[in-house]
Amino acid sequence: MALDVVKKESSFQAWVEHPASHIVHHDARCCEEARMWFLGYARSMQISALSRYELRAPTWLSQLFTWGPSAWPIAWCELVKMKTLDCGVFAALAREAFTAQGFEAHPAQALLSFNPTCTTHWKGLWKKPPKNPLPEPLKDQKKEKTHATFPWIGNEVVYHELCVLEMEGNQAKFYDSTWGNWFTPDQETGFGALLALRTECPRLLHWGDKIFSYGEWIDL
Ligand SMILES: [Zn+2]
Repeated sequence: MALDVVKKESSFQAWVEHPASHIVHHDARCCEEARMWFLGYARSMQISALSRYELRAPTWLSQLFTWGPSAWPIAWCELVKMKTLDCGVFAALAREAFTAQGFEAHPAQALLSFNPTCTTHWKGLWKKPPKNPLPEPLKDQKKEKTHATFPWIGNEVVYHELCVLEMEGNQAKFYDSTWGNWFTPDQETGFGALLALRTECPRLLHWGDKIFSYGEWIDL
């Protein structure tokens, strides 16, 4: 059982209790303009697709932003100024891009298997302060921003945020918004293998021989 590996990790409880990340909207022009800019950009990146109804993964996200530590919570008007964003923001942006195409996209979280060489390297990377110059209001709130220090890296397990699409016949499609690839339900083992998945889709989803209900971690 994959979850047995995960349970040995000291951050197990923190991972399984962590809600999926959402972008803050200030309910004001600042965020509305930032979101409109993003959606316009998404449209321009997807315009060359063959068919209007074709599912187009927002692989261009990684050209717009680099993956790395970013402060939480984060608002639309703040993230558009950033160069570096974490997987939670990548996932939230991918949901927007898919939703704009007319697909049902929901948050998903994953626990992945990695070797200690990798996890040690990431722990070092995450200890460095974020490269983004924080805008003034953010500096004041910095102490309250806890997500950047969320213990997402274990010894052999890594917490990650994804995007799940609700396809025809309640079939799930899991997209890694940070690295721009789709996951397949046939179990792969080793480097980067999925150990467990959780979705925030309000309906039941099927993926291979697994069934996902809202908020439930599924052992793979
Ligand atoms: Zn704003």
